[in-house]
Amino acid sequence: MKVLPRFPMPEQNPRDRIKNFLEVPLGYDTETAVAEASRCIQCKKPTCVTGCPVGVPIPEFIKLIAGRRFTEASLKIKEVNNLPAICGRVCPQETQCEIKCVLSRMGQPVCIGRLERFAADYERKTGIILPDKPRPNGKAVAIVGAGPAGLTCAGDLARLGYKVTVFEALHEPGGVLTYGIPPFRLPRDIMKAEFDYIRYLGVEIIPNVIVGRSITIPEILNDNYSAVFIGTGAGAPVFPGIPGENSIGVLSANEFLTRVNLMNAFRFPEYETPIQNAKIIAVVGGGNVAMDSCRAALRLGAEKVYCIYRRSRAEMPAREEEIHHAEEEGVIFHMLTAPVKIIADENEMIKAVECIKMELGAPDDSGRRRPVPVIGSEFRLDLNMLIMAIGTKANRIISKTTPGLITDKRGYIWADSSTQLTSIDRVYAGGDIVTGSATVIEAMGAGKRAAFEISRL
Ligand code: FAD
Repeated sequence: MKVLPRFPMPEQNPRDRIKNFLEVPLGYDTETAVAEASRCIQCKKPTCVTGCPVGVPIPEFIKLIAGRRFTEASLKIKEVNNLPAICGRVCPQETQCEIKCVLSRMGQPVCIGRLERFAADYERKTGIILPDKPRPNGKAVAIVGAGPAGLTCAGDLARLGYKVTVFEALHEPGGVLTYGIPPFRLPRDIMKAEFDYIRYLGVEIIPNVIVGRSITIPEILNDNYSAVFIGTGAGAPVFPGIPGENSIGVLSANEFLTRVNLMNAFRFPEYETPIQNAKIIAVVGGGNVAMDSCRAALRLGAEKVYCIYRRSRAEMPAREEEIHHAEEEGVIFHMLTAPVKIIADENEMIKAVECIKMELGAPDDSGRRRPVPVIGSEFRLDLNMLIMAIGTKANRIISKTTPGLITDKRGYIWADSSTQLTSIDRVYAGGDIVTGSATVIEAMGAGKRAAFEISRL
């Protein structure tokens, strides 16, 4: 079978984009979207849908785009996914729906994510269609955390007539979408439109409430809520435990990105969020978080940004697109390298990091080849800031204040994988706080499963 190649998406030029925080990929125009949608062969048994954790009706919405029924395409996606413009931008489609596309066998899967983004953007630009409000069913549900898991659970229940209240620790909803992923990947106005839609469905989001401090899960359960869903993510930082890591100028990626994204450091001096003005910045890690940190650091004006990663490029967990963008933008990669010691000046300010070269040995538990230090290969990188993007872990604030809530030894909440029910009756959990760091759409899938189960109580 002859397969037409995928239609590329235009992007901001790397030279220009490293000077701004505007979105890098510019989206399809109408004709390109129709042409890309027309590549879909409308399989009788669409395998792409099996790759989507929320079950978006992919062939149906793509057929609507091919037939120029763009708003209907967006509404079709929104039958199961309230955050299509977000998912179209950040979902790793290449390992989820697109890898299951029949055309991926020929190396040219349909660009499902780009088409999802197109449909959602089209509806937003031409006027969002608001659904009829459901009749209230008299039941109330509390959600803890306004990330993708919590907002999905909230939206699905609100559509069924539940009174839904979301308690969020930060002053803005969105979780990692808001504080972690920078605007050049996920513009703020696009996120806001999708959160407003969830609010329109009837969801009340109460910011600045830390559950486990301001109010506890047992108190919520005693307060006329028929169920609680915990979607608090896994945002606590992890450091490698090397000498000098408490020096000034050593930050976790979450702190760095929160200052930049949530607290608007990138809009200095309009916003006066303090962020160190560093000329040379190194980021340790090889995932999306590391790529976001490197690329944000460049845009803040750093002259050199290093990415230090202990395995090789082939093992990097970041999306290929993000690695490619970071390379184009001039990030300097030190592959097969690990930091061993941080060197600070007399004021305890970081001035260098000592690194060691690594080589790959036998595979470890993750199936990837284990990095092994090469004795005598130490070298030094002079710098002004070091950002650790080597993973995150569970915050135990809720488990410590909720008797009977079972967690594993790392603090992740135990929940049944098909119902999301925890060890406590009427308490559900999902997203990163159950699985550890995963993806937006997997967190949304858990939120959907929990909403379905809660609706059966
Ligand atoms: P979160 O998004 O972490 O949201 C949890 C929410 O709960 C937060 O708003 C938090 O403030 C709130 N909360 C926590 N504790 C409490 C409490 N005690 N009381 C009240 N509220 C509380 N995934 C992708 O699919 N694609 C990507 O490109 C991608 N890039 C990423 C980039 C970065 C920088 C990071 C950090 C992650 C990225 N991920 C990506 C992973 C993805 O964002 C997460 O898997 C997803 O956000 C998890 O959703 P969640 O709802 O479980 O948790």
